[in-house]
Amino acid sequence: MEKLDLYYDRVDGNIYHEGLASEIPDRISQPLLQRRVESIIGRRGLKASYNTGKSYMKPLLNTLHQKNKKESLDLMLKHLSIRGFGSLKCTELKKDYMKIQVNNCFNALPQPKSDKKVCFEMAGILAACGEVLMGEGMDCMETECITQGNPYCEFHVFKHGLRIKEKKDAEIKPIPEKEENLVKHNAFHDPYKGETIFEDNSSLILPQGYLAHYQRELESLLGERPVRDMEYILTKKSSLTTANTIKNKKLAGYLHTPTNLLLREMVKKSRMRGFGVPLIQEFYPGKPYLRLIVKNSFNAHGYSKARKPVCYRMAAQCAGFGTALFNKDMDCIETRCRATGDSCCEFRVYANPHRRTQSGRSHKRSIQEMANLTSL
Ligand SMILES: [Zn+2]
Ligand SMILES: [Zn+2]
Repeated sequence: MEKLDLYYDRVDGNIYHEGLASEIPDRISQPLLQRRVESIIGRRGLKASYNTGKSYMKPLLNTLHQKNKKESLDLMLKHLSIRGFGSLKCTELKKDYMKIQVNNCFNALPQPKSDKKVCFEMAGILAACGEVLMGEGMDCMETECITQGNPYCEFHVFKHGLRIKEKKDAEIKPIPEKEENLVKHNAFHDPYKGETIFEDNSSLILPQGYLAHYQRELESLLGERPVRDMEYILTKKSSLTTANTIKNKKLAGYLHTPTNLLLREMVKKSRMRGFGVPLIQEFYPGKPYLRLIVKNSFNAHGYSKARKPVCYRMAAQCAGFGTALFNKDMDCIETRCRATGDSCCEFRVYANPHRRTQSGRSHKRSIQEMANLTSL
């Protein structure tokens, strides 16, 4: 295991890895979302994963460019491994072609065995590597996948012959000068597995704005409303699972009350992972209501003039924690958002009068409703 340094900025809530603002989701959450998006809208949802990997990792990979091609590539592959994407190796490098083997590919992990290749986000990232390396338009295709029983995933990166289009919203925020505001956190990298452990979880270190960019890619495919509903329902479910796990730890002898513990953990988790700084504004014990503001919400990065609030995943996280907190089905609405020009985002968590509990059946039904909605 190698030690990695992460720095948390107490003033603006950014978390920095190697001098660049980052967000650190669980290793499994992004591929899990990809799988669920695919189950709802079909294979076309995979385009959002590919495009995000390609356009959002490219500015970062550009900073690693060296004169020597081989050195450049080695540096990029090592860097991707440190970020937790897997253990990567180049097995063939030509003028306008390369072959990359990925052991323990993050993209394949939560997938059941299938007859399809699933690593579209990784393919996008490797296409970006190819473009930085060759200086021309490249694409990437997965040819073997762990999900098909292969010991590793294999990718072919090749020239597509079109002009390169650069996306303007993918920018890298470098570390600020004021060191006195920075708090150091540790993460640990396993170079053999290509995994990074942060806060006891295998995690991905993504450039800040990556997850919001994925949301915009989905929006460009499906429109705002279906994406809002989909991200909200899916994230609420996983956030509720996380919150319930924390709550059960209480039974193992924690001193705080479950309510305090959950609120503290929600705030801590969000800050540590670079998702934003939540501040509780209204909370009365016994009343199922919570109002909070979130500074620097990860969900709003890169949006400049949105007409409506865009932090669906942040709202869903609050709803999931709220549900565990109050022991009843809670929902969350975002009432102010940085994406629409406010200084921070504001969320209100309230008891949903129409649903008593979020049972498995009602969840299945909402997924079905969404499938109908998105098949327009
Ligand atoms: Zn794969
Ligand atoms: Zn917002």
